[in-house]
Amino acid sequence: MKFVIAQMEHETNTFSPVPTPWESFGPNGAYLGAEAYRAMKGTRTPIGAFIDLAEKENAEIVTPVAGFAYPSGPVDPAAYDRFCDLICEEAAKGCDAIFLDLHGAMVVKDRTGDGEGTLLAKVRAVSPDTPIAVSLDLHANVTEQMVSNSDVIAGYKTYPHIDMYETGELAGSVLLRYLKGEVKPVMVWGNVPILAQTLKMNTDEGAMKDYANAARQVQRDGALAASAFGGFPMADIPQAGMSTIVITDGDRAAAETARDYILSVAWSKKEDFIWRDEPLEQAIAKAKLLGQAKQMADGPILLLDHPDNCATGATQDTMHVLKEALRQGMNDIAVGPIRDPEAVDILIKAGVGAQVTLPVGGKMDMPAINRKGEPMELTGVVRAITDGEYTITGPQFTGVRAMMGRTVVFSTDAADIVITERLQEPWDVGVFTSVGIDPTRKKFLLLKSRMYFRPVFLPIAKDAVYCDGVGVGSSDWTMFNYEHLRRPIYPLDDAFDAATGQNQTS
Ligand SMILES: [Zn+2]
Repeated sequence: MKFVIAQMEHETNTFSPVPTPWESFGPNGAYLGAEAYRAMKGTRTPIGAFIDLAEKENAEIVTPVAGFAYPSGPVDPAAYDRFCDLICEEAAKGCDAIFLDLHGAMVVKDRTGDGEGTLLAKVRAVSPDTPIAVSLDLHANVTEQMVSNSDVIAGYKTYPHIDMYETGELAGSVLLRYLKGEVKPVMVWGNVPILAQTLKMNTDEGAMKDYANAARQVQRDGALAASAFGGFPMADIPQAGMSTIVITDGDRAAAETARDYILSVAWSKKEDFIWRDEPLEQAIAKAKLLGQAKQMADGPILLLDHPDNCATGATQDTMHVLKEALRQGMNDIAVGPIRDPEAVDILIKAGVGAQVTLPVGGKMDMPAINRKGEPMELTGVVRAITDGEYTITGPQFTGVRAMMGRTVVFSTDAADIVITERLQEPWDVGVFTSVGIDPTRKKFLLLKSRMYFRPVFLPIAKDAVYCDGVGVGSSDWTMFNYEHLRRPIYPLDDAFDAATGQNQTS
């Protein structure tokens, strides 16, 4: 047998001004051909699982492309076309099955709000009879086009995502059973009009836990696969929001009943999917009090500037939380990373030990939320200059080499600020330790983080305070002007069918 296996992953924040060219999809753009195989073989990702399954079957494997870009604005159409062409060319040559590791929330600039569905329709057009298995992220915005142009779809059931490999394994193994004639997958999907917020999608707690568990229950009861998607809300497309896919062995009625059950769990708890922030001034005042009470051995207090989290597509350079912290007289703060290549350049030219006054951060405008970049004038000393590279010690992405670009530690009287050339999610203590800052010894850590601080920084912290700063990852829906989203939708509107909430199924 011959299998085509590929990856195309991007979560598009349509409000983000951060561009997404081909180069964003890997160290030199997405991996191609044999390079894609070498890069992804052995990884705990869906495509890693697809490769393992194919090798167990002794299948010939073709990997035209594998690319993963961090969340940012709509994808460059030339990059998208390249992915589609590479995958379609291999599919058109003929194969026994196609396995695709996709995200499910890709928007392509001036082209399509449904990057994955459009790709799948193209693949099906060139290879109409070839079975297709797809893995999706929990933050997928599922569409009819995705479902009708594939045979098996499975999504992550965890956030933070720790079941990527298992999801690929599930989708891939159901497709293999189908190829061998052991099962006849029937796939149905549906959505509910809830624009859930990613801050409320932690699958370890609350309504999201119940919703994910409902999908697990359906699988235990005999479905081939059941997936409960939270959706990605920072996407101004019709199908943004919560959805569910269920696959059974030949039993459409059972699949529909199970789908309706999972969606009803989400609908009945819809208030629990909405995050409500306290005003920034109040959050900082609370953090300051916690700081006064803490002992040295307690560990730092985390200030979580979640609206400016780059893993949500934000610019990672807004200064509002630091400004408020300094206004309220806080000190002993480690901040980072802030992305500001211009400041890095100026500070490296000044050299270690130099005292400099310069505008820091606020270099990118955010037209979609009507905000101009607002740099903050700071005076401080260049403490350290590094190449910004470090190896992640875990527990997530363990062993992966992280590259922040050239990096500077700039210290004012109150704060040590890590300034980088590239976007960098604070998913490891290495963002501080690699530049000589011991995060356990600071009173406060200001992190541009939303979810990934949990396994890394929470265990060393005394406490954590969510800070409603400014950024295109904000959970304040009033900042965003949705023009293409289907309406009505909760919580933006309240006039719709309150009985089921369901607004599309098939
Ligand atoms: Zn995700």
